[in-house]
Amino acid sequence: MTGIDDLPVREELRGKSPYGAPQLDVPVQLNTNENPYPLPEPLVARIAERVAEAARGLNRYPDRDAVELRTELARYLTRTGGHPVTAENVWAANGSNEVLQQLLQTFGGPGRTAIGFEPSYSMHALIARGTGTGWISGPRDDDFRVDVESACKAIAEHRPDVVFVTSPNNPTGTAVEADTVLALYEAAQAAGPSMVVVDEAYVEFSHRDSLLPLIEGRPNLVVSRTMSKAFGAAGLRLGYLAAHPAVVDAVQLVRLPYHLSAVTQATALAALEHTDTLLGYVEQLKAERDRLVAELRAIGYEVTESDANFVQFGKFPDTHAAWRAILDRGVLVRDNGVPGWLRVTAGTPEENDAFLDAVRELMKEQER
Ligand SMILES: *Cc1c(COP(=O)(O)O)cnc(C)c1O
Repeated sequence: MTGIDDLPVREELRGKSPYGAPQLDVPVQLNTNENPYPLPEPLVARIAERVAEAARGLNRYPDRDAVELRTELARYLTRTGGHPVTAENVWAANGSNEVLQQLLQTFGGPGRTAIGFEPSYSMHALIARGTGTGWISGPRDDDFRVDVESACKAIAEHRPDVVFVTSPNNPTGTAVEADTVLALYEAAQAAGPSMVVVDEAYVEFSHRDSLLPLIEGRPNLVVSRTMSKAFGAAGLRLGYLAAHPAVVDAVQLVRLPYHLSAVTQATALAALEHTDTLLGYVEQLKAERDRLVAELRAIGYEVTESDANFVQFGKFPDTHAAWRAILDRGVLVRDNGVPGWLRVTAGTPEENDAFLDAVRELMKEQER
């Protein structure tokens, strides 16, 4: 049978696997950091209204520059991010994955490299590969923190063109201090100059403030955001960035014309009208996240401090066997390939209870 490697695919794609969290049909799915709450009915109705309006104009291409949406995203960031921004600072695309791809197409690419501090979001390395950007795996310490000294050393040594900092980090939940990002930025400018991309996909769940104010006076710093997690709209595919207006101008060089459909823009605008309700769910999820941390520790597990809507817990002598044992009890968590550790997304209180029951049983079994 003909397989991928029988085709004349690019050399660097040979023998590789695509991104893929298993989508298994089990009662409790806590494996992809989604928001467990469906959008509230009034918002669903508002989406229908705005999409109907957009549908009347679907014979035309959408607003290529998504000006109304970028204005509303800027308003949201100004209100919640501790720093005023305008539409000129904001760019939007189909999920923050597309934002990151556009950044790598613009600032990475063949002959260039990007660094991330691993374990971290696996898509950074995959998007690097897809854009022909070389990937450098930078270090984290044993507590999964970014150690300033060793991180700056790696930047000075490899002189990457793009530096990824994920805060809060996925899959560990660890936040990165503003001072650390500033030190990495200085190191990256001394070695580069290079772009520093702060991936804040989970920042709404954090105990700390957004790193958005750091873009002030730093044209090579980008903050990336998404509506997939806190806004409970993973199915919408809407991500965005905030940066100096020159960065927004630069990504226009690689974006596909009309990349953001009129339906997507209308839906995102409707969701932004309901920001306060959606952020109310975030508060509930933060409380559930804290409960998961406390109860996992009470059961006897090790837990990594979390600023996100998920928790990394362990340690397991056989990570895959533990993942399987939890799955056998009807709960799907994530094995991110971090030896000894699994990751669980904060779900509804009922889902979290089911998860806690499962891992309580697992602990009893291991003790026997
Ligand atoms: C989930 C996640 C994203 C979101 O990607 P979208 O394309 O916006 O759905 C981005 N970065 C990190 C670190 C994530 O975990």
